[in-house]
Amino acid sequence: MRLYSTNNKELNVDFATAVFNSMPQDKGLYMPVEIPQLDADFIENIGSYSLPEIAFKVASALLGDAIPAAALKALVEDAINFDAPARKLDENTYVLELFHGPSLAFKDFGARFMSRVMAYFLKDGEQLLDVLVATSGDTGGAVALGFLGVPNTRVTILYPKGKVSEIQELQLCTNGQNIHAIEIDGTFDDCQHLVKQAFADADLNEKLRLTSANSINISRLIPQTFYYFNAYAQLAREGKKKVVFAVPSGNFGNIAAGLMAYKMGLPVHQFIAATNANDTVPRFLESGVYQTRPSVQTYANAMDVGAPSNWVRIMDLFDDSREEVLKVVSSSRYTDEETLQAIKDIDQQYNYVACPHTAIAWLALEGYKRAHAEENFAGVFLSTAHACKFPDIFPEDIAAKIEIPAQVLELIDKEKGATVMDTDFKNFKNYLLNL
Ligand SMILES: *Cc1c(COP(=O)(O)O)cnc(C)c1O
Repeated sequence: MRLYSTNNKELNVDFATAVFNSMPQDKGLYMPVEIPQLDADFIENIGSYSLPEIAFKVASALLGDAIPAAALKALVEDAINFDAPARKLDENTYVLELFHGPSLAFKDFGARFMSRVMAYFLKDGEQLLDVLVATSGDTGGAVALGFLGVPNTRVTILYPKGKVSEIQELQLCTNGQNIHAIEIDGTFDDCQHLVKQAFADADLNEKLRLTSANSINISRLIPQTFYYFNAYAQLAREGKKKVVFAVPSGNFGNIAAGLMAYKMGLPVHQFIAATNANDTVPRFLESGVYQTRPSVQTYANAMDVGAPSNWVRIMDLFDDSREEVLKVVSSSRYTDEETLQAIKDIDQQYNYVACPHTAIAWLALEGYKRAHAEENFAGVFLSTAHACKFPDIFPEDIAAKIEIPAQVLELIDKEKGATVMDTDFKNFKNYLLNL
């Protein structure tokens, strides 16, 4: 596999380089030089393959000889060791549950795959890899649990005090082993600033091998293509081949992966990018003007992104043409009031509890159905997290229905360990040097 930068197509690096750099020097994003086509036979018979089989097939096509087949197969099976069921809610409505991994959010796909890819490329005896992450909630848990026990790696997570949910905090602070959590007396932006300062600090970079596990890493995007193929396979088994995906979007990595699957030959009828009030992309698709804005806080806080970093990847997939994007992607935005009402409606109609992000995807699907009432298609809305991660949003009667999964209940008895720190970089640097 070879990759270029979205800012420079002459650049040409191998997969390992792209994984460890995360971002090219020119501040573009890595994209595959060539998007491989899956053979028509595979797509035609996709219903007969399991998720691990599909994941291996898709990963092999993308990675080429970057990782030998046997090692890649073992890696994929170890990383994607949980299901992604498309649950049928009514004749033509499915919810794709992407929260059955250890941190109960779809980010487990990316984080688990990335950690194992990094571990694979770290040869025995090489310097320990220090992964730094700032998190507002979901990313930290996925990265912590993704790297937990992975040899030759150490993770330091910075999270803002009092600003992550109880379950998110448990996922960050109860791991031990190679995972360290720091509770910063400040905001998410302060956490992110500290991490950026660490990457810019020459002294630190000389002594430690630092890497960022952020969402723009190409090795997080690749495994997210797997579940689109696998969802399509599940619907194909029921004879449904005209499929619409509604994707709750913040940084637009999830839907970028879906569109990459599309470009690899997955015959998806339509993608809908669903956002909260942070509507940079819907505004762009409507007006043709791309203008980022500072993010605003909403109930779907994992989507509170004013400048979605993966959007350039989507434009790259469609030769920088908004018209081409619009042939397969529509978009819509929803307010907090609509989100809350949707949570109630989904509960009423299907006796199903959806997290706020998921509820926004459902709203977008319902909107699309109304606008295309004569068409016959199967709609799939992506459920990106388990409802128990966002307990404060739900009305009491609905909150009471949320079942806490066993892997969370186990955490409650564990000891919480986090280092408390202010926003002074000197202290953070000292901490890293004395790990
Ligand atoms: C990260 C996240 C999103 C947004 O996904 P992007 O890939 O950034 O668009 C949506 N929902 C949940 C629960 C998330 O954690």
